[in-house]
Amino acid sequence: MNFHVLTLFPEMIENGMNTSITGRAITKGLLTLEAVNIRDYAFNKHQKVDDYTYGGGAGMLMQAEPVYLAYEAIAKRTAKRPRVVYLTPQGQVFNQAMAREMAQEEDLVFLCGHYEGIDERVLEEIVTDYVSIGDYVLTGGELPAMVMMDSISRMVPGVLNNQESGETESFAGNLLEYPQYSRPEEWHGKKVPEVLMSGHHANIEKWRREQSVYRTAKRRPDLLKKADLTNKEWNYVRQLRKQWKEEEEQTK
Ligand code: SAM
Repeated sequence: MNFHVLTLFPEMIENGMNTSITGRAITKGLLTLEAVNIRDYAFNKHQKVDDYTYGGGAGMLMQAEPVYLAYEAIAKRTAKRPRVVYLTPQGQVFNQAMAREMAQEEDLVFLCGHYEGIDERVLEEIVTDYVSIGDYVLTGGELPAMVMMDSISRMVPGVLNNQESGETESFAGNLLEYPQYSRPEEWHGKKVPEVLMSGHHANIEKWRREQSVYRTAKRRPDLLKKADLTNKEWNYVRQLRKQWKEEEEQTK
């Protein structure tokens, strides 16, 4: 997987991505990272990349030409026209399914805006995907690009070792992950659930699945619509909902 990031702050991307698991994957050659400074493609006296917006309004806008030239240089280097993700609060909200789908690409370009954003005309010419990381506004697209690259990297074969395997993590099958415990057996008077100490794998799996369903119903009920639950599990969810409703009534 080759990540190309168009940014005004390449050092921010390099420092973030060359750390921990993604850093190790870059060293191993499983990922490549190129942070392209858009300013290098501003061929004016002061390498200026922004200007006032037509029609007035607060703030500056990134101009079309440097962004366009920076992308064309990537297209030339890679001898293809890779998919371009523009990080924007106006995009589709990023999720695990999108990460999984994007991990199939060989090259991905992330376009990071700053100030008030980027001139619409260049977006129309090069952007293939508009993606947001949530309904709030950040100062730039660098953190969202790193969020996406981190999550996509986890889907690239070899990036996670067995111990870090993502298969049972939250969102697998649209369920949240079950609670987990490590040593000591008792901490602040709280004991590790007995079933986990039993060594009985079938019972442990059963307990974990039930905990996943419980946790998802409690914390992210919206996910359950897409989860693959058995009839028995749906009955369990209905029973939980009834119980929570009754408890809520009692506290009123
Ligand atoms: N004026 C823009 C608007 O209202 O849509 C917001 C511009 S924001 C201050 C500057 C840049 O930060 C954006 O161009 C985008 O690249 C990035 N950004 C801000 N919030 C984001 C979010 N929730 N998801 C992805 N990118 C975001």
